Amino acid sequence: MKLSEATQKLTRLISEETIHEKILELGKCITSDYRDKLPLVIIAPLRGSFIFAADLIRAIDLPLRVDFMEVSSYGNEMHSSGNVKIHKDLRDDIAGCHVIIAEDIIDTGLTLNTLLAMLQTRNPASLEIASLLIKPHKHALSIKPKYVGFSIDDSFVVGYGLDYRGFLRNTSSIYSVSDPSVLEF
Ligand code: 5GP
Repeated sequence: MKLSEATQKLTRLISEETIHEKILELGKCITSDYRDKLPLVIIAPLRGSFIFAADLIRAIDLPLRVDFMEVSSYGNEMHSSGNVKIHKDLRDDIAGCHVIIAEDIIDTGLTLNTLLAMLQTRNPASLEIASLLIKPHKHALSIKPKYVGFSIDDSFVVGYGLDYRGFLRNTSSIYSVSDPSVLEF
């Protein structure tokens, strides 16, 4: 099955154009908020955030560094396990830096809370969150995301970096999956 055939079986929630416009908007806000707050470091939690982070950094008109962490809370399931595992840590020190975590999606917020607690102990000058998507109803975050792309209903979404069993990250739009049995991965 081609990727384009798979996505035809899904509901397109947010188009490529809409995502692009929103990221330009977020980039402008960050550029204006951080012009006097340097050095700026964007942290992309792998793997779901890599496409969002790649687009967001190019929408920010400031010098910045990018770093990556890999954490997981989902495995192959469609619901948060509550367990967050750190697989890969940052390469560089963030002490004294203004840090923005570029997150793909906040569902329960468990993953992000663990990350925030960990990063706060490293003495960044500031620590904020930019999340492309948020499911606003149920998370209990220790800090509120400063930048949010879209609030969505409590459906499982894929595409633009977000996966279903490791697949579907490489679509340009975001889709909701109401019935995973239509997917043959
Ligand atoms: P949380 O800890 O906020 O419940 O979930 C965090 C992680 O779970 C996200 O960074 C993302 O990787 C994954 N996740 C949460 N909701 C979804 C979803 O609707 N679709 C996909 N593909 N992943 C999700």
